Amino acid sequence: MFDTLSDKLDSVFKKLRGHGRLTEQHIKETMREIRLVLLEADVNFRVVKSFIAKVSERAASQEILKSLTPAQQVIKVVREELSRLMGEGEDNTLNLSVKPPVPIMLCGLQGAGKTTTCGKLALKLRREKRNPMLVPADVYRPAAIAQLKTLGRQLDVEVFDSQAGQDPVDICDQALRYAELNGFDTIILDTAGRLHVDTELMGELQRIVNKVQPQEILFVADAMTGQDAVTVAASFDEQLPLTGVILTKLDGDARGGAALSIREVTGKPIKLVGMGEKLDALEQFYPDRMAQRILG
Ligand code: GDP
Repeated sequence: MFDTLSDKLDSVFKKLRGHGRLTEQHIKETMREIRLVLLEADVNFRVVKSFIAKVSERAASQEILKSLTPAQQVIKVVREELSRLMGEGEDNTLNLSVKPPVPIMLCGLQGAGKTTTCGKLALKLRREKRNPMLVPADVYRPAAIAQLKTLGRQLDVEVFDSQAGQDPVDICDQALRYAELNGFDTIILDTAGRLHVDTELMGELQRIVNKVQPQEILFVADAMTGQDAVTVAASFDEQLPLTGVILTKLDGDARGGAALSIREVTGKPIKLVGMGEKLDALEQFYPDRMAQRILG
């Protein structure tokens, strides 16, 4: 993951270190190179523009140019701004401390990793001593219901009994009441996805939101799809009160664009990241660690 981005930034910084003393011209040239590297990594162009503006302003200060280790200082600025771009300093933990049962809704396009992530999330919550129930609300793909039931069996987590053809809003509502009566403190709603954003899907998701008022509404984004993931996230964010993002498939050879742009474009924090197909491959997202990893 991020290998190409890391390698390219590394060569930019090598050149910078080679100069010893730095001039404003060196900074300008470095910023131009970083800009290209980020665009090649598929980072949203508006995000690149504001990022470069911030880094340039800080890096070209006399304090940095006259310091004993100017190149190191510039790299430090880039690292700080990268982690800020990914949400450093914000609370990105799941906010579940409300009266149970707490509904968590996952939404996103087909194939993004929603169903798998529902299973991973159930495991994570159980390890945190919660008692979750999985709710299949994708009634258009019977395979999705079966997939969630299989995951439930694997994890020994109850899966609410819904059938293809039922109204997803009713399923979620009934599941909430069932959870209340049966001592589940969290319900994880696996909603339907489509290949593209469409108004019918959005209407359905909005009705679920209005009915069960999920505490967390998490957009599941496939990091491998780069810019597309960001565009789709922005569109979901316009139509639903998202509370955060789960970025999946970060274990693949994603170029980095989605991870670096999605927070800035949607204004919503990346809360969790999927690092593999296995059920324990869901991790808390730490912007500073990610920035550190990108800069090697
Ligand atoms: P859905 O249509 O959004 O419910 O997507 P699925 O949960 O069915 O996932 C689609 C594919 O992505 C499956 O083959 C999953 O195993 C795979 N997948 C999901 N999350 C990850 C991840 O973090 N890393 C990798 N490598 N694969 C993942």
